[in-house]
Amino acid sequence: MLELLKQKVLKANLDLIENDLVLFTWGNVSEIDRETGYIVIKPSGVAYADMKRDDMVVIDMDGNVVEGKYRPSSDTPTHIELYKAFPNVGGVTHTHSAYATAWAQAGRDIPFYGTTHADYFYGDIPCARSLVKAEIEGEYEKNTGLVIVERFTRDKIDPMEVPGVLVKSHGVFAFGKDGAESVYHATVLEEVAKMAAITESINPRVARADKFMLEKHYKRKHGKNAYYGQKPLS
Ligand code: 13P
Repeated sequence: MLELLKQKVLKANLDLIENDLVLFTWGNVSEIDRETGYIVIKPSGVAYADMKRDDMVVIDMDGNVVEGKYRPSSDTPTHIELYKAFPNVGGVTHTHSAYATAWAQAGRDIPFYGTTHADYFYGDIPCARSLVKAEIEGEYEKNTGLVIVERFTRDKIDPMEVPGVLVKSHGVFAFGKDGAESVYHATVLEEVAKMAAITESINPRVARADKFMLEKHYKRKHGKNAYYGQKPLS
C-alpha cells in the first residue's frame, strides 16, 4: 500500500545525507496521507545506504504499524503529535544538524538577522522548552511533540509560516506540505543557524534586522502578493 508515498519518503530520507544534515542513522522524515490518515516513516536505526522503498513503515495516527517489516522511527510519536496539531503540515523532518542543534543546546530561538532567514521563516525560529523529568521518563517522544505544539500555540506561530523549530537540548524538527519540503526547510534552517552563529561571533551585540525587512522578504516569496520566481503556467 501507498507505494508511491513510500518511494517519496525514501527519497526524502536519502536527501538528508545528500544535504549533509545527518550522520549514521540520525534523523528521520515522514509524510502523511491525509485521506487515509496513514503516515509513512523511515524504519528505526537502519543505515541510509541500505534503505529500500519497502523498508518504509506505514503507521496509523495511534502509532500502530499498518504495514512494514521494521519498527518505525523512534521519533514516530513526535511526528504523530505534529500531524494531529498542525492540519496543514504534510511532512516532518527531524535532524541533529550541527549548527541548529548547537542553538537548541544553548536553548535559544534563532533571531531574525537577515534576508536568508526571512525568505523562509516569518520571524525568529523558536526553541521549545526542555522536557521535565516526568515528561522524559514518561511518553518521551510524544511529549517532545507536545512541547513543540505548546510553543507554537502559546506564541500563535503558524507552522506553515515558521516551518521549523528547535527543541532544547535535542535538535531540529522541520515541517512542510510534504516530506520533501520539510527536508528543504530543515536544510535552510541549518544554513540560517550557521549564519546566525557566525553573525553573533563577529558582532556579539548585533540586533535583529528590521521588521519591515522581514515583511518585505517573506511576503515577496509567500502569500497572495508574492512575486518571486515565475508565474505558474495557466
Ligand atoms: P531513528 O533511526 O529511530 O529514526 O532515530 C534517529 C534519531 O535521530 C533519533 O533522534
